[in-house]
Amino acid sequence: MIADRVAAVRERISRAAVRAARRPEEVTLVAVSKTFPAEAVQEAFTAGLRHFGENKVQEGEAKALALKALRTQGLAWHLVGHLQANKAKKAVAAFDVIHSIDGPELAIRLDRLAGEAGRTLQGLVQVDLAGEVTKHGLESSRLMRSLEQMRGLSALRIVGLMVLPPFELDLEAVRPFFRRLRELRDQAVAGGLLSGSQLSMGMSHDFEVAIEEGATLVRVGTALFGERQRAA
Ligand SMILES: *Cc1c(COP(=O)(O)O)cnc(C)c1O
Repeated sequence: MIADRVAAVRERISRAAVRAARRPEEVTLVAVSKTFPAEAVQEAFTAGLRHFGENKVQEGEAKALALKALRTQGLAWHLVGHLQANKAKKAVAAFDVIHSIDGPELAIRLDRLAGEAGRTLQGLVQVDLAGEVTKHGLESSRLMRSLEQMRGLSALRIVGLMVLPPFELDLEAVRPFFRRLRELRDQAVAGGLLSGSQLSMGMSHDFEVAIEEGATLVRVGTALFGERQRAA
């Protein structure tokens, strides 16, 4: 039952928040439904979840279409995976929050397309803190300058930062990545470079550590929907 899993994850979120002297309401649970059918999203929505994440534009688009009615009842779609420029137009229609903005070029394109579509979107800049060639995101050395270039956007509001750290079995090994993202967020907020203070960090195995380090959006798949049958 998804409802039981939702309750269990919420309980873990609450405990982690309390440990960090934070309020559980500061943490938004984004249910990453990639590879799972629209029915699973419907069930999770019924169990009270409102934020859903997908990592592929096409899959998200199909589910958004199948569940169109839920979107008018408060369901928000988050794109958490890499976004190619040629899919930006589709992404603008299918998603409400884009976590994977990797630079001013993509941000400016999304802003223009959202403006043309009469939509407003929230965006987070994905920061590559691991320096891994396989990971997407913006190098932290370019972050502040890039945020400055995104400052004038109107249809796309840049509300925070996102990180996808390397997978570590030892949870303490990921903590420095979360802490570093929070420091960068604080620096950007202090410089007036962000229209929000969101931190998208933490997945099924490490979201508690992320919450201790300040996460406001946790992206949880497996702990809610179970193991994925195919690679995502
Ligand atoms: C799949 C995915 C998640 C969720 O991962 P789980 O380990 O299943 O919780 C979170 N963030 C991104 C970017 C993902 O692609």
